Amino acid sequence: MRLKFQSPTGMHDILEDDYGYYEKINTVVENIAGSYSFKRIETPILEQRELFSKGIGLSTDIVKKEIFTLRTKGGNYLALRPEGTAPIVRAYIEHGMKNLPKPVKLWHSGPYFRHEKPQSGRFRQFWQFGLEILGEESSAIDAEIVQIAYSIFKDLKIKNIGIEVNSIGASCCRPYYKKLLVSYLRSRAGNLCVNCKRKVKENPLRILDCKQEKCQKISSEAPQTIDHLCSDCRKHFKEFLEFLDELELPYNLNPHLVRGLDYYTRTVFEFFVQEKKKDSSELTTIALAGGGRYDDLVKLLGGKPTPAVGIAGGIDRIILLMKERALKPAQKPKPKVFLAQLGNLAKRKTLKLAEEFRKAKIPFYSSLGRDSLSVQLNIANKIGVQYSLIFGQKEALANSIIIREMKTGKQQEVDLVKVVNEIKKKIKK
Ligand code: AMP
Repeated sequence: MRLKFQSPTGMHDILEDDYGYYEKINTVVENIAGSYSFKRIETPILEQRELFSKGIGLSTDIVKKEIFTLRTKGGNYLALRPEGTAPIVRAYIEHGMKNLPKPVKLWHSGPYFRHEKPQSGRFRQFWQFGLEILGEESSAIDAEIVQIAYSIFKDLKIKNIGIEVNSIGASCCRPYYKKLLVSYLRSRAGNLCVNCKRKVKENPLRILDCKQEKCQKISSEAPQTIDHLCSDCRKHFKEFLEFLDELELPYNLNPHLVRGLDYYTRTVFEFFVQEKKKDSSELTTIALAGGGRYDDLVKLLGGKPTPAVGIAGGIDRIILLMKERALKPAQKPKPKVFLAQLGNLAKRKTLKLAEEFRKAKIPFYSSLGRDSLSVQLNIANKIGVQYSLIFGQKEALANSIIIREMKTGKQQEVDLVKVVNEIKKKIKK
C-alpha cells in the first residue's frame, strides 16, 4: 500500500540505529578538531543563491543542475546550501574574522542539498562534516588538514583508506594550462561523451575525471596540470608531497583529480575506499571526503585576499561503509530501571522520583499512561531492564517503594528516600 506521505525523493529520516553512527562520527571529528583548536561554527541552511553561483562557479554541475532554489515572498532568490565552504567564507567575511589570530580554524557539520539522481550513497539531502583553515599559504597547512582527515578515519577504525592528491595550479598558471587542454580536447571532441562535449568550452578540467571509458582514454593522454604549474605552484606542491612523506601518509598522485568546484586552487585531495560491489567480486570506488586549497575564494566573495584550505567528509557514506564493515556505532545508555506506578498519587510521586533519577544520571523508563501492573512489567521485560520499581497506592501513602529484580521476580520494599541510592548500589555490582 502506498503511504499518503513519504520522505521526499533522495531524502531520508535518521532513525535510532543510524543516529549512533552520526553521533560517533561527529564525536570523533569534534575531539580531533578540538585537539587542533578548531572552533565549531554553523551557518544557515539557506543562503543567497548568488553566493554559490559566484563561489562554486556558474558552469559547475552543482550550480547548473543540482542546486535547490526558492524565491522568498520579498522576491529574493535563496538556495539550499549544496556545500559548506562558500557559506563559511561568507561568515568569515561578515563577522570580521580576519582580525582573529591566524590561522583561523573552523569546523562544521550539518545537512547539504543537491538535486542529484538518487542512488546508493548519493542523496539529495546528505550530511557532511567540514574543516577549514583560513589565513595561511604554507603547504604545511594542506598536509595538516590531510593528516587530520586521516586521523578521523583512523579513529573511526576505517581501514584501507586511499588518498589521492593533485595540484591544479592557480590564476598564475591555470589559464595557460586550460588553453592547452581545450586545444587538445577540441582535437578529440568527436570521441567524447555528450556531457563532456558540452564541457570542453564550459568546464574542460572536469572532463579529466569523467568516468566514461571513452573519455578516460582521451584524458589519459591529455596534458597534465602538474607538468604545467608555474614555479611557485610547483614548489608549493612539491613541499606538500614532502610533508605527506614525512607523515608517512599513504597517498597517490592522481593527475586527473580536479574536483567539482571552481574555487579550488593548487592542492586538491580526495579520500576513498575500494569496496566489493554487492553480489559481485568487482571493486567500486567510494569517495568519502574531498577538499583542497581555495586561495581566491575570500577575495571573490568580497573579503581581503586570504589563502585557505579545507576538507568535507560525507557522513552518510561513512555510515554505509561502517555498517558494511560491521563497525560499531556509539552506544546509547540503556534504561536501568522501570518506574511502574498504580493510581494518581503514585503517578504524581513518580514524576518527582523521575527527577531524582535524572539528577543521579541513572537512565529510566516509565509508562505513565498505563494503570495495569502486568502491562507495565511486560514493557519492562521488553526493554530489558534489570530492575522495576513498583509504586502502588499503599507504598505511595507510606512513602516506600518496591524494588523488583526482573530476572528472579524477587521483591524488596525500601524507603522512598533511599531508593535512588539502593538502585545505584545494585547497578554498580
Ligand atoms: P564534495 O562536497 O562534492 O567534495 O563532497 C565531499 C564528500 O561528501 C564526498 O566525498 C562524499 O562522501 C559526500 N557527498 C557528496 N555528494 C553527496 C551526495 N549527493 N550524497 C551523499 N554524500 C555525498
